[in-house]
Amino acid sequence: MTLSPTMEPTEPTTTVRCPTCRLTQERSDTCRRCKSDLRLLNEAAESARRTRRRCLKALRAGHRREALRLAGHYHWLHPTADSRRLMALTALLSGDWANALALAHDLPELD
Ligand SMILES: [Zn+2]
Repeated sequence: MTLSPTMEPTEPTTTVRCPTCRLTQERSDTCRRCKSDLRLLNEAAESARRTRRRCLKALRAGHRREALRLAGHYHWLHPTADSRRLMALTALLSGDWANALALAHDLPELD
């Protein structure tokens, strides 16, 4: 298990999967197959990235309670192994050992 989030998300952020037809494609405002409007999806992804960055900055500044709140919001916006890892890290640094251990359990290894 590794708890080392970086400033860059571990998942590619240049692609998006259309919720209507499931086509994975380069990020754009409209699905190239079914023409669904993807702007809200793109805005949610950008909001998740901004929230993650704010969480890491809060951690570096020693604002652990704010970092914990932001990690939870990031997980709500973008529930992935990366968001669980960040929640586990903020819980660990906040002294919440039980939640840190529960969140870190079964996390996939980083490359
Ligand atoms: Zn589509």
